[in-house]
Amino acid sequence: MNYCIGSLEMADLMIKNGRVFYEGKLVQTDLSVINGKISAISKNQSRSNTKEVIDATDKIIIPGGVDVHTHILDLIFSYRDDFITGTQGAASGGITTVIEMPLGIEGKTAIESFEMQLEEMKKKCLIDYGLIGAAGHNTIDSIEELAKRGVVAFKTFMINAPEEEAELKDLAAKDDYYLLKIFEEIAKTGLVSCVHAENDAIIAHEIENHIAEGKTDFQAHTNSRPVISEDEACVRAMVLAHEAKVKLNLVHMSSKTSFEHIRNAKRLGWNVSCEVTPHHLFFTTEEAEQIGSWLKVNPPIRSIEHQEAAWNGIKDGTIELIASDHSPYSHEEKDMKSKNNNIFECGSGTPVLETMLPMMLDAVNKQKITLAKLIDVISLNPAKRFGLYPRKGIIQVGADADLVIVDMNKEYTLKSENMYTKTKITVFNERKIKGAIEKTIVRGRTVFDNGKFCVEKGFGVYLTPKF
Ligand SMILES: [Zn+2]
Repeated sequence: MNYCIGSLEMADLMIKNGRVFYEGKLVQTDLSVINGKISAISKNQSRSNTKEVIDATDKIIIPGGVDVHTHILDLIFSYRDDFITGTQGAASGGITTVIEMPLGIEGKTAIESFEMQLEEMKKKCLIDYGLIGAAGHNTIDSIEELAKRGVVAFKTFMINAPEEEAELKDLAAKDDYYLLKIFEEIAKTGLVSCVHAENDAIIAHEIENHIAEGKTDFQAHTNSRPVISEDEACVRAMVLAHEAKVKLNLVHMSSKTSFEHIRNAKRLGWNVSCEVTPHHLFFTTEEAEQIGSWLKVNPPIRSIEHQEAAWNGIKDGTIELIASDHSPYSHEEKDMKSKNNNIFECGSGTPVLETMLPMMLDAVNKQKITLAKLIDVISLNPAKRFGLYPRKGIIQVGADADLVIVDMNKEYTLKSENMYTKTKITVFNERKIKGAIEKTIVRGRTVFDNGKFCVEKGFGVYLTPKF
């Protein structure tokens, strides 16, 4: 039975005997690659002259993950992670494309910072990559130029960049007038505007109050960012973005009520999407408290009703994207004891690039999500929303051969010591999961093979969006 015939000329790579995720389901077939592109998906292809054959008996082959939200932040924070270790981690976790967030470098303009990041990524990335441009009140004039240079989207904070995080200087919209102007400028580029939606005033006062009352434990962080601070900003961002006719992507959303507001906006036909992180899907606030500062994230990990709302939002299509918000830190930066047990002194964010897809494959095995839905939210939808489809995000003839070979029956334990990102830490440490990534292939080349990396640094290519 032939599912799709492409070219049957001599292939560079053939994957035989596996079940390939094709047209929404797993199909027992073979897959060939020529010049980095999928050239044929059909059974009983001749293997004569094929340069490399992979036997995928009892394995499934799915499209590589497209992670649209990483903060590897090499250059300034290379002690936390760099583009080599970061993309090694990504490849080991079945991610074949990373979209890196902007980084404001001291004394440099947004465009200079972008060029420096791009230069570094070109030298180091093992997988394909794109960059998000900084869009803040002091960088409005750079938006058009950044779009010309190929950013896949823009990022804006609705909270003031904290002074100690100077790297966020180019991303802050200091008030709603500027937020609207930023949206209008991005709308002209046709690109997506990614927004971190939290209400600055509510949070700033709450943190002040908590510190004044001597409350600085893990839950003080959670309580200082109440649901309303997310909901209000979510609605405000949607109203302003709709007015400006810009495509809005709300990053790492976490509250049940925000999901309801987004659901309503979609019903009205507003152009809005939203992301959820693996840590918001797999932890409740009580569980997060046990782990402590490595689960200090913004918005905070919330209670079970919010977690359940996130899973339901994925199911009904309200949440279209899962993205890692990968944010590594050093152990020192996350060590509460050395900071008088003050959670507010610890950095916000956690490294999760390499564990995201493994945790989600386990969720497929536990029937929390279907494989088809997982591929929608982790490959297809991110590629479509950020202008990388049909090159990325799908297994079909003509697409880049970005593939992950998975043994869905293999059980193993996630361990911090086995992580590739520099700090070697995962909040999923000691989780027993089922579903293991054996090989990750980018444009037909095996990048990760059972614990080994098979390409040189700099193998990744720079991706620019096409709509
Ligand atoms: Zn982020």
